[in-house]
Amino acid sequence: MRDLHKAVSAGDAQGLVGLTFDDAYDDFLYTAIPVLKKFDFSATVFVVAGMLGESNTWKHMYNPEPRKRLLTAEELREVLSQGMEVGAHSMTHIELIDLFEEQIYQEVSESRRLLVEALGTAVEGFCYPYGRSDQATVRAVRDEGYHYACGVHRLTDKDVHNLPRIPVSDEDGALRFAAKLRVYSQFEKFRAIVHPYYTRLKTARARSEPKLS
Ligand SMILES: [Zn+2]
Repeated sequence: MRDLHKAVSAGDAQGLVGLTFDDAYDDFLYTAIPVLKKFDFSATVFVVAGMLGESNTWKHMYNPEPRKRLLTAEELREVLSQGMEVGAHSMTHIELIDLFEEQIYQEVSESRRLLVEALGTAVEGFCYPYGRSDQATVRAVRDEGYHYACGVHRLTDKDVHNLPRIPVSDEDGALRFAAKLRVYSQFEKFRAIVHPYYTRLKTARARSEPKLS
C-alpha cells in the first residue's frame, strides 16, 4: 500500500493493485509470503499492536469463532525482512466507531507508537478493525499523521484515509474473484450514494418504534 500510495501521488499507478492482509496471523508469514514471493508481489499486513504473539480473542462475526495465533514482534521483523510492509490495526481490534473520541485517539496513536518501537520501522498505514470507519475515526487517523488508511466502504468520493477495498475470502474461487474485480467498485459507488439515506431511514424508524423498558 505504501508503494501504491506513492505511485498514486505521483500519478503513476496504472495497472497497480494493493494487497492487504488484516490481523497478522501466523499463516501470513508461513503460508502467504512464500506464495507472494513466488509471484514477485509485496503486500501490507495490518497488525493488532497490543496483542503480538497472542490469539484473536476479539469478537468475530463467524460461528464458530476461528482461533488463530498472531505473529510475534520477532516474526514481524522477519515479515519486514521479506520486503513486506507492516501497518497498524489498532491496539485491541475493538470496533472504533463505538468509542469515545479519546479512546479512538488512544487506539490509533498507541498502536503506531508500539509498532515503531517494537519493529524499528516507519508505520505509515492504518486499517480500521472490521473495516468500519466513520468521520470521527477517519479524522483521528489523519490527525495522528498516518499517510493512508484502509477501510472497506467509501464514506466520500475519494479519501486517502479511508481507502475502500475488495474483501476476498477463502470462499472466493477464481470465477467469483474475477466477478468481484469487475463489479465491486461499481457496487461500492452505488452503496456510497444510497447508504446515507438508508441509515437515516433506519434511524428514523427506530425512533418512531415504541421502546421496551
Ligand atoms: Zn481485523
